[in-house]
Amino acid sequence: MPDCSVCGKPLSPPTVKCNKCHSEVHRGCSKKTLGQVYCRNCFKQGKKLSRYEKMAQRDTWA
Ligand SMILES: [Zn+2]
Ligand SMILES: [Zn+2]
Repeated sequence: MPDCSVCGKPLSPPTVKCNKCHSEVHRGCSKKTLGQVYCRNCFKQGKKLSRYEKMAQRDTWA
């Protein structure tokens, strides 16, 4: 069984699949936004990206 890519611990249910990198992570290590589930790594990345891309818009990742 692979390890969670967020916390590095062995995966155990409940797990979710990140919509971006498609890696499986604990549900507690994921973030859900706009009906999409992301691991915390991708969530952080997307948050950074959206800050640059949508300066004028509200932060939809929050
Ligand atoms: Zn985890
Ligand atoms: Zn991810």
